[in-house]
Amino acid sequence: MGKGTINVSVENIFPLIKKFLYSDHEIFLRELVSNATDATVKLKHLSSIGEYKGDYGSPKIEVKIDKKGKKLHFIDQGIGMTEEEVQKFINEIAFSGAEEFLEKYKDDKGDEAEIIGHFGLGFYSAFMVAEKVEIISKSYKDEPAVHWECDGSPNYSLKKSKRTERGTEIILHIADDSTEFLEDARIAELLTKYNKFMPIPIKFGTKEVNLPLPEDAKEDAKPEKKTIDNIINNPKPAWTKQPSELKPEDYKSFYRELYPMQFEDPLFHIHLNVDYPFNLTGILYFPKMTNDINIQKDKIQLYQNQVFVTDNVEGIVPEFLTMLRGVIDSPDIPLNVSRSYLQADGAVKKISSYITRKVADKLKSLFNSNREDFEQKWNDIKIVIEYGMLSEDKFFDKAQAFALYPTVDDTYFTLEELKEKIKAAQTDKDDKLVILYASNKDEQHSYIEAAKEKGYEVLFLDSPIVSHLIQKLETSNENISFVRVDGDHIDNLIKKDEDQVSKLNDEEQESLKTMLTEMIPQDKFSVQLEAMDSKANPFIITQPEFMRRMKEMQQSGGGGGMFGMGTMPDMYNLVVNTNNELIGEILNTKTAKKKERLVNQALDLARLSQNLLKGEELTTFIKRSFEMIK
Ligand code: ADP
Repeated sequence: MGKGTINVSVENIFPLIKKFLYSDHEIFLRELVSNATDATVKLKHLSSIGEYKGDYGSPKIEVKIDKKGKKLHFIDQGIGMTEEEVQKFINEIAFSGAEEFLEKYKDDKGDEAEIIGHFGLGFYSAFMVAEKVEIISKSYKDEPAVHWECDGSPNYSLKKSKRTERGTEIILHIADDSTEFLEDARIAELLTKYNKFMPIPIKFGTKEVNLPLPEDAKEDAKPEKKTIDNIINNPKPAWTKQPSELKPEDYKSFYRELYPMQFEDPLFHIHLNVDYPFNLTGILYFPKMTNDINIQKDKIQLYQNQVFVTDNVEGIVPEFLTMLRGVIDSPDIPLNVSRSYLQADGAVKKISSYITRKVADKLKSLFNSNREDFEQKWNDIKIVIEYGMLSEDKFFDKAQAFALYPTVDDTYFTLEELKEKIKAAQTDKDDKLVILYASNKDEQHSYIEAAKEKGYEVLFLDSPIVSHLIQKLETSNENISFVRVDGDHIDNLIKKDEDQVSKLNDEEQESLKTMLTEMIPQDKFSVQLEAMDSKANPFIITQPEFMRRMKEMQQSGGGGGMFGMGTMPDMYNLVVNTNNELIGEILNTKTAKKKERLVNQALDLARLSQNLLKGEELTTFIKRSFEMIK
């Protein structure tokens, strides 16, 4: 007993502790509650193996604010410490642990966010917010209680204490720059953030509840009030239970617990549970997704033995799955390491591929067990699946079994089913299977109709990453190609042998081409004469698949910049159907003025059908149209 000096090799770690991890001072709370939890769990263990003969009872941890005294108390009923243990665990081991921690991180201060959760600083993190710390502890062993005190210098005092109840009380004398930690609301917020699912009940204050009214109570009777402990946490959250113990409602209510502000139910969940070759439990939820990938990230929470670590699981979960929600708990994820180290860690890689596999298996079983329901959910989950197919080859392979391709009429095919269905009609003269798709049913309506008239299937693919996905499907499936319905005239999209004869002879075609290239702005349209069905429109605007797809890929990232240029300009083809009556009429019209009017009108109508006619050009078109029907 008496005074002593902690053996310091780094001059003085206390100012350092304060300085480092400045943005994360709040984690002292998690560390102290974790220690109290560990001490309690250890006692439970000792009691269960008969090592501790006393009454285990139903211990809880109390966090108490003494605003006037500027103190924050952490009181547990765990194993406690003897004098010898304080000497060893606090003065020596914990101290050198803190020292080591600081040694490691004092050089990459700028990278604070890199250190996941800053685990490891332990007990001494108290000095981030306190100018003096006291420990009063009574071991479960039959030894007197001790009282340790340290004022932030390496000097401490250790004396006997009168405490008789088993357990430990840690008292922080909160420093003047940290008085936020004397506010009820702030502590409640932090306890909820870090300790919401810790395994020992945590009491913070009390609350009043109404007692149930007796059966024969009068109508205006007021219920009696009772004061009870305000328990912050749920010590046995759903993910720590076996799937067989849980009903669908339990999963839903746990989702509510995790995301109290979320009003929509999740679509389905995946319960993770492995203990070999690594330990991992958790529940992942598929929420309803929108097409915006970025806003939905960072909703999965990472825990280590029920202690919250971070809600940034980048590097642990494959990126496409960061759109999911839920909890992952693993003691095997190294915590106080940088993200780049984490990504290279073998255990983490295994965890990542395990999660990917579990998600794929679950999707497959949902698909197999209730296809109709899966189809209904497809639109809300497709973004994750498509993103996963693009970014993880293993997932891509597995997804063949459940990835769906809906048509504009809401029939859902797998790729294999689709190929089978369209094989006869949509194989072109070079034996290539051409898959048609639309990205907007309204804007591409006339093209969709033209394709349907031919008896073709048109898929409806509207995800922002679809151009990347079809690129990948084309490279991994021999002899298929995707084209958007407005990529060309339908006869050109799926070229068959039968060539249409043109009503115009070579000379007429030549003069038509010359005339149109003069009248039509070259920088916007390239004119292409085609002998098509006479019933097909005279002018059709198309956007070549390749150019459009490259542009889309550039915009959505990934395939971008591959030509080393800025944003590509929009280029369109003007397909002219030389067999349509109007074209003949244009060619044979004698007056230049009338010719111009017909060409402009036809061009504007074609633009209108592609939603390309706007502003002044639209006004001119409307005026001209009224003129013409007068
Ligand atoms: P860690 O918890 O990582 O071991 P800490 O610095 O947080 O490191 O704590 C050091 C040691 O002090 C613990 O391992 C434990 O033996 C002891 N200790 C800390 N807090 C308590 C407590 N509330 N009850 C009993 N022992 C404690």
